[in-house]
Amino acid sequence: MRFDVITLFEPMFAAITENGITSRAMRRGLWSLQTWNPREETEDNHRTVDDRPFGGGPGMVMLAEPLARTLKRIRRSGNKGRVISFAPNGKKLDDQTVRRWVADQNDLVLICGRYEGIDQRFLDHYVDETVSIGDFVLSGGELAAMVLIDAVVRQLPGAIKELSTLDESFSTGLLDAPHYTRPEIWEGEAVPEVLLTGHHANIAKWTRERALEITLRTRPDLIEKARIEGKLSKSDTDWLKTLRD
Ligand code: SAM
Repeated sequence: MRFDVITLFEPMFAAITENGITSRAMRRGLWSLQTWNPREETEDNHRTVDDRPFGGGPGMVMLAEPLARTLKRIRRSGNKGRVISFAPNGKKLDDQTVRRWVADQNDLVLICGRYEGIDQRFLDHYVDETVSIGDFVLSGGELAAMVLIDAVVRQLPGAIKELSTLDESFSTGLLDAPHYTRPEIWEGEAVPEVLLTGHHANIAKWTRERALEITLRTRPDLIEKARIEGKLSKSDTDWLKTLRD
């Protein structure tokens, strides 16, 4: 899967190309990344990529032309994929959207805004989807782009052990259960006994109950969604009833 990213801060992307699962997946050839700096598509001495907003107001706005030229270069280099930009007013990124991109495995072009954002005419002409990573304001789209890439790449077949993503948060419709590792007692606190028994059915039951419990407590909306989608068994609903009582 190929990602081309338009950004004024290319070195930031070392965070995902040089570290962890995403870096390993890249070395295995599961994905590739090319960053493009729109300053290279400017013609003035100052290599200007922003200007003051029409109508006044604070801050600067990214110019449409350097972005459009950069996008055309990306197209000529072979990426014909969907164009995604980032903004707080975009559709909030979720597991379902990530899985759609993973299933398609089509190339993507990501546009990282800076300053007050991007000239709306560029967005209207060239952008297919706008993504938000949450109800807060970042200084730029780079972190949002890396969040998207990381979430997609770790689900590409071969990026991590298949089983690891099967019971992760959201894939079952619930949040993940807590995890424990050695030592068995740490700061006076013991690991839940059932996890030491080796009894797979009991461990699975305990894990499912913890997942239901934490999801009910922190994201009751997901419980309701799982119920509507038929993802809850009779024993799940019985357990939820005892938690609510
Ligand atoms: N003026 C914008 C507003 O009030 O909505 C904020 C612009 S922000 C300082 C600069 C850039 O950061 C945006 O163009 C966008 O690319 C990125 N950004 C900020 N918050 C974001 C979020 N919640 N999700 C995704 N990208 C975001």
